[in-house]
Amino acid sequence: EDGKKELYYQINKEAAIFYLKAFCQTSNPGLTYMLKRGIQPVTLKKFGIGYADGQWDSLYRHFMDKKVDVKLLQELGLVSESKGRYYDKFRNRVMFPIINTRGKVIGFGGRAIDDASPKYLNSPESPVFLKKNNLYGLNLSRQDISKENCAILVEGYMDVISLYQSGIRHVGASLGTALTESQAKMLRRYTKNVILSYDADSAGQAAALRGIDILFKEDCRPKVLHVTDGKDPDEFVKKHGKEAFKTLVDNALGFVDYKFSMLRQRYNLDSYEESVDFLKEAAAVLRSLSPIEADVYIKKLASEIKISENAIRLEINGNTTQ
Ligand code: ATP
Ligand code: MN
Ligand code: MN
Ligand code: MN
Repeated sequence: EDGKKELYYQINKEAAIFYLKAFCQTSNPGLTYMLKRGIQPVTLKKFGIGYADGQWDSLYRHFMDKKVDVKLLQELGLVSESKGRYYDKFRNRVMFPIINTRGKVIGFGGRAIDDASPKYLNSPESPVFLKKNNLYGLNLSRQDISKENCAILVEGYMDVISLYQSGIRHVGASLGTALTESQAKMLRRYTKNVILSYDADSAGQAAALRGIDILFKEDCRPKVLHVTDGKDPDEFVKKHGKEAFKTLVDNALGFVDYKFSMLRQRYNLDSYEESVDFLKEAAAVLRSLSPIEADVYIKKLASEIKISENAIRLEINGNTTQ
């Protein structure tokens, strides 16, 4: 069983080297693209970034020369078959190898260089690639996460790479999916303090709310960082630099404050009826906290919406079915 896995790892590694070699050719479109996006050679090397050329089957032919079983290539999502002919799945894309914490290449993300669709193509799940069990970048960042006692979680490959290059190295990304329980458990091995730094759109906000609950269940203390200019951390840090991003980190909202601020956007607190509905939802959040923690927020909330602390406590304790 493990021997079989080792074979998959070897093939992925060989593919990563193949893409890397193409990326090192002078003036290939992959390198040009990444340099234009402001990623420096030393960073590209660190992340093992590669290039899948625009031909139909160059990776396939490379592996045929090495007498590798095409079935394995198909299982890994590197090669597909159509009408009896084999072709490469990744073509004309910048290739991000996904490497686990044991240093094995488990899959790839491929970003289109032109405006091909989809923008990102990821390896399918395979015997060595379970998306829900891995975080992109953790192979490089886990020591920094331990040292800083904090992890910054972002949406995409480019966000991880840009932050890392800027000197903010305690970063990782969930792999194009919502954060999973198993990813939260992984992070918890290194730190309790996880800062969600998702894209500044409504999808990012919704993902942060879901991420909070998953992290909280795994005994983490989530915070949410709001990117104030630019659509994601990659754009922000390129425009404003490391220190400005650190200021955002320092100002990240604790998860209770974040949930309350999201609730406040939905209710008009000048209206008595809406204040009541707001309070009911806020009480549900407070109920999940320890009494000491809840106390702080009850006081804050009471002064904010001009309701007695006592009324809030009654709402929390009495109305447990809400
Ligand atoms: P760029 O990464 O070039 O800056 P972007 O910030 O617009 O583009 P997003 O759409 O925010 O990219 O995607 C963030 C992450 O989500 C990607 O890095 C990738 O992991 C994942 N992703 C995006 N689109 C897809 C897709 N079509 N299929 C699978 N995963 C995707
Ligand atoms: Mn996005
Ligand atoms: Mn981006
Ligand atoms: Mn983005």
